[in-house]
Amino acid sequence: MDDSREAETNLRGVSVVVLPLPAFGHLNQLLHLARLLSARGVAVHYAGSATHNRQVRDRARGWRPDATIHFHDFPLPPFASPEPDPRAAVKFPAHLQPAFDAAVHLRQPLAALLRSLAAPSRRVVLIHDSAMSFAAALAASLPGVEAFSFHSVSAFAVLLYLWESCGKQLEDLVVGKLNLAVVTNDGCFTDEFLGFLRRQHQMTGADSGRLLNTCRSIEGPFIDLLKEEPRWREQKTFAVGPLNPIVVADDGTSCRHECLEWLDQQPPSSVVYVSFGTTSSLSDEQVAELAAGLQASGQRFIWVLRDADRADIYADEGSSDHTSLDKLLSNYNKAVHRSGRVVRGWAPQLEILAHRSTGGFMSHCGWNSCMESLSMGVPIMAWPIHSDQPRNTLLVTHVLGTGVLVRDWAKRNELTPATAIRDSILRLMIGEEGKEVQRRAKAVGQAVRKAMAEGGSSKADLDAFIAYITS
Ligand code: UDP
Repeated sequence: MDDSREAETNLRGVSVVVLPLPAFGHLNQLLHLARLLSARGVAVHYAGSATHNRQVRDRARGWRPDATIHFHDFPLPPFASPEPDPRAAVKFPAHLQPAFDAAVHLRQPLAALLRSLAAPSRRVVLIHDSAMSFAAALAASLPGVEAFSFHSVSAFAVLLYLWESCGKQLEDLVVGKLNLAVVTNDGCFTDEFLGFLRRQHQMTGADSGRLLNTCRSIEGPFIDLLKEEPRWREQKTFAVGPLNPIVVADDGTSCRHECLEWLDQQPPSSVVYVSFGTTSSLSDEQVAELAAGLQASGQRFIWVLRDADRADIYADEGSSDHTSLDKLLSNYNKAVHRSGRVVRGWAPQLEILAHRSTGGFMSHCGWNSCMESLSMGVPIMAWPIHSDQPRNTLLVTHVLGTGVLVRDWAKRNELTPATAIRDSILRLMIGEEGKEVQRRAKAVGQAVRKAMAEGGSSKADLDAFIAYITS
């Protein structure tokens, strides 16, 4: 039997179930993983709620559309994550709590799915978001089911969580083992959340191992340190990221977002892309400063303004109509028409980052955004807002040298003025320092893409994971 036939045979009888946390930044990472596995011939079942499955598929249209995945629309009571208070310094995990609570409703349908697959399959492998640790205990109780946790944050952030939640002296470790002088990013997490992490770590002890959405070229030393941790030594670790597609399909159809058409007309590497992800909001005052800072920089930009962000500042002076966001935005859009675009709601981030006209990304440093930017070789202007973002910021700016700071975490309770925003844009886009940061970002982008290609570390880890589950 030739190698390819043998591989095909090995895949038969193996079913993989992926269980995301119902929040977009988590849902899409496991969708990417599901697509990668499915493209390799593994039968993949995506276990989410009807609403989330629809949302993630709609938003991820065009990203590896070829794969076949079995979507399971489990009943989940409707829930709404409250917007984090833009003025509060520590907001996590309050805004994700409804997702954690709702997720427990997936227990029964998940158990039924795993049982139904266990009967006809040679092996069932559950890959659950590490925040869905109830699934680890469930898998352990079912014969023929084996579980892996999936980490949707950086290895650096996981390492610091682990040290912090085990009550270790974070500062000593960071200076001693990581050789980083700046560091603690204190105040990222509440005690309540550190307790949650501790319990989660205990519960995932039953898993066979872990998958990380990162790669050695970005986080090699942190992955190695994680592997030295007592529990990690006993379990398998696969660093298979970045999971986001590197080549983004542009189907050239009428569905193409208007901002991409505009981007096509701009010079190479000239546009600043501004987005703060799906869970972060800025105060009205801060939105005003950002608008002024972007305009004052004189640089081209695409700014994604979520519906959650207020936009009263865009009203013409004396305008009595403060109710229509569309009208207010159109005033600002008119003012910056030549140089910028404000996109309300949702923009095709991957396509924007992959576009040759994009030269920098002003970001809250959510892990998806970091990985997407790094893998496209786009440098970051970092503006961390909550949870793991200050740590990702440190990684991107201080460790990798692929970004500059817009707002220091230590100044999180202060308004970031338009002048500081303008200056950080100019530092990256036209200053001497910016040239070096851009060069580093390009080099990291190349290394990341190499890690995904044949012979690269992430490709090797993904191959090893598939070989393990199909053995
Ligand atoms: N995203 C997007 N368009 C938007 C806003 C967000 O495509 O207008 C995607 C982005 O590409 C990323 C995810 O949503 O994959 C945001 O995840 P991240 O971890 O960066 O931030 P979070 O939303 O979890 O804070």
